[in-house]
Amino acid sequence: LPVLAVVGRPNVGKSTLVNRIIGRREAVVEDKPGVTRDRVSYPAEWGGRNFMVVDTGGWEVDARGLDARVAEQSEIAIGLADAIMFVVDATVGPTATDEKVVKLLRKSGKPVVLCANKVDGPRAEADASELWSLGLGEPYPVSALHGRGTGDLLEAAMKALPTTSEHGVAIQQGPRRVALVGRPNVGKSSLLNKVAGSERVVVDSTAGTTRDPVDELIVLKGKPWTFVDTAGIRRRVHQTQGADFYASLRTQAAIEKAEVAVVLLDASVSLTEQDTRVISQVIESGRAVVIAYNKWDLMDEDRRPYLEREIEKELVQVQWAPRVNISAMTGWHMDRLVPALERSLESWDTRISTGKLNSFLGELVAAHPHPLRGGKQPRILFATQASTRPPRFVIFSTGFLEAGYRRFIERRLRETFGFEGSPISISVRVRE
Ligand code: GDP
Repeated sequence: LPVLAVVGRPNVGKSTLVNRIIGRREAVVEDKPGVTRDRVSYPAEWGGRNFMVVDTGGWEVDARGLDARVAEQSEIAIGLADAIMFVVDATVGPTATDEKVVKLLRKSGKPVVLCANKVDGPRAEADASELWSLGLGEPYPVSALHGRGTGDLLEAAMKALPTTSEHGVAIQQGPRRVALVGRPNVGKSSLLNKVAGSERVVVDSTAGTTRDPVDELIVLKGKPWTFVDTAGIRRRVHQTQGADFYASLRTQAAIEKAEVAVVLLDASVSLTEQDTRVISQVIESGRAVVIAYNKWDLMDEDRRPYLEREIEKELVQVQWAPRVNISAMTGWHMDRLVPALERSLESWDTRISTGKLNSFLGELVAAHPHPLRGGKQPRILFATQASTRPPRFVIFSTGFLEAGYRRFIERRLRETFGFEGSPISISVRVRE
């Protein structure tokens, strides 16, 4: 899906606006320093278009480093977005921090919609028109709080948003795009250095591929791969406040741009909440997945059974992903990474013909019919694969299918067709 990022200084009303856009109160309401949260992107719909909204509010900003942090946070958001909604407080007017963001926006060359927020009365209306001076085109006067003007603003945003995402799952020519994700200190930069160091690093960009300066083209086993968003890995960002949210945003940025994510885990210590959060983010994104247990050189035999149990318990939601045990430090088993990436991507690209799918389903339903509900039984009519990357299936039936039965179908689908390393989804359409 195309990505719309909402960018601006703290307190300009970004989160209120995001709440308006997604029509829920899921995002945190107060856009003020000191409020942190994990979630950064939300599915949204406007005028029949589906897109993702990335909310950059809620990242703790302390007074000292405010300028630099807003700039850095904006840079990430701009990098991952297809279009940007830049929010300025009309009652305050453009500040020096705003100007900095404007420079980044210009440099990116991406479409920008300028939102003049907090326009609650005629006076503010006049303030809003002063924002023409930013050189970003027409400022849209809005009161995110009362909802005023948000329709026009969103309409403009929809015009700015491309119909397919450049970073999204549109078919990409050339190198496949990999994101290295994982909590701080699991060894992302060590792994990147290892893969980039041992192989030839190609500096020039390949024709027909879009590449951000933060991406790196690395040739592995004779094939080029784009490692996305590596700047954040190379430039170690040390932060105490808001570090979690920052890490989440980074992860999200990388995933959005990638086709396959390598989730790094530290084999030598127990899984943390942050690890599971990264995994959830990856699954939710619908990207292909490889799980890499790093620091295997530190694994001691006593820990082995614990690790196995952890995998069984904590990693159930990605039990379909290939797992590689590696050491980014010694280089041990590094040669297993590329084959795993290839397997996951192949699954991600898989299309099952309608004929095959329906004979599979026909046999399955005959052998294991849906349980009776109130004396009735939903009849499965037909199934089709709606999309690849990842594979999504739609089942048409005469009634709602129980969650347990849907999971059963998914399990059988995997047993029959594989899909190692790719999430798959099944939705049910009820037809009378
Ligand atoms: P990042 O924050 O995910 O980029 O993690 P780093 O790559 O900076 O690694 C964090 C620490 O773990 C560093 O001290 C690395 O030297 C160490 N480290 C990374 N990979 C391994 C490994 O495979 N084995 C061991 N023993 N240490 C590692």
